Amino acid sequence: METQVKVDLTSFRLETRKWLEENCPKSMQEPVTDANQLYWGGSNGKFSSKDQEIWFNKMLDKKWIVPYWESKYGGGGLNPKQNNILNQEMSRLGCRKPHINFGISMLGPALLKFASEEQKIYYLNQICKGEIRWVQGYSEPNAGSDLANLQTKAEDKGDHFLVTGSKVWTSYGDKGDFIFCLVRTSTESKHTGISFLLIDMNSEGVSTRPIKLISGKSPFAETFFDSVKVPKKNLVGTLNDGWTIAKYLLTHERQMIGGIGDTDKKKTLSEVAIDSIGVTDKLLSNSSIRSKIANLEMNEKIFELTIQRALDEHKAGNNSGAVSSFFKYYGTELAMQKEELRLEVNGFNSTEWTSEESNNGREARYFNRSKGHSIEGGTHEVQLNIIAKRVLGLPSK
Ligand SMILES: Cc1cc2nc3c(=O)[nH]c(=O)nc-3n(C[C@H](O)[C@H](O)[C@H](O)COP(=O)(O)OP(=O)(O)OC[C@H]3O[C@@H](n4cnc5c(N)ncnc54)[C@H](O)[C@@H]3O)c2cc1C
Repeated sequence: METQVKVDLTSFRLETRKWLEENCPKSMQEPVTDANQLYWGGSNGKFSSKDQEIWFNKMLDKKWIVPYWESKYGGGGLNPKQNNILNQEMSRLGCRKPHINFGISMLGPALLKFASEEQKIYYLNQICKGEIRWVQGYSEPNAGSDLANLQTKAEDKGDHFLVTGSKVWTSYGDKGDFIFCLVRTSTESKHTGISFLLIDMNSEGVSTRPIKLISGKSPFAETFFDSVKVPKKNLVGTLNDGWTIAKYLLTHERQMIGGIGDTDKKKTLSEVAIDSIGVTDKLLSNSSIRSKIANLEMNEKIFELTIQRALDEHKAGNNSGAVSSFFKYYGTELAMQKEELRLEVNGFNSTEWTSEESNNGREARYFNRSKGHSIEGGTHEVQLNIIAKRVLGLPSK
């Protein structure tokens, strides 16, 4: 039996490898150098190249936009081992992800666990086709780390909710089709009065205002709800029990953010260093940078092994959701250290924003963006609090 499984997986790997080699356009095997090269889908989704469109459609036909969801939800029905093989083969070839969407990485897992079967069939199939661009409506001006303090209210009006309030830091809020939103449906208790609503951004009364950053870019928006009618069928899970869903979704968000260093397909630090610093006697000419790179790469390897161990423990039924806080904290810490070291390795090219040699200040921009990793999805301090309480079991007030 075990031998048969091994044979099947081996042939799955060979078929997958062959299929990817034949179907992934060469330009889609190049590292992503700009966020615009990712396809986010949705009603306003635009392909940045013909190859990107071909690649998306090939993966769509193969049902590999979300390969590991069941086929009735639009997924490819791969089991975890097959999915792992697909990931490995895509990495081997350097294939870009055909589609990025918060619907896949955050909302989808929450729907799978908490939504009605009707909602799952409806929304997950749309997500697998890249038809809806989802955005996240959690944070509010007075509800960031203390998220349960949120005040955006949804009043029960019989066949619909009437939503009033505002959200802040909504990533790509001005580009979203739908927002998964935490709303207050009762004021009796802080945590048990929250519900999880799916809101169409085209509804009357929804508006967004982009937040412009010092870089000139505007990846965030403020989102306003002015007496927005939301059908009752858009409530996920039980009324007033949205906090449970919110927390579950956050564990997926944190795992996704924690894996940020892994998805980095830019040149490795050693390759960049060899180009910019040079080699003496087969060793990088600057011994200080050499030891920093070695240190970082060892820590990355250790982190990779720790993730593997946690996955194995999870399979054995031994898992605390709080572990995602550890992944988020350490994964983003490594990603930030890596960007900082990359600046050092790149020398003068890291110090300005505009020249062709510096690729428009790419390294400096990546470095600045990386600082947000310690805030998005819950700050470093909040993750450390969770690790202290729920992973290490330290006493608290
Ligand atoms: C790149 C990026 C993308 C984002 N995208 C989204 C999005 O799409 N949707 C969305 O809803 N939100 C989004 N956010 C918002 C993010 O979730 C919040 O910024 C975050 O939760 C922190 O909340 P805050 O900004 O209100 O800071 P605050 O909660 O005001 O925290 C301020 C400081 O106080 C510290 N602090 C607060 N409470 C404690 C405590 N109990 N113990 C110790 N220290 C504490 C924090 O660590 C922080 O240093 C995004 C943020 C970033 C940076």
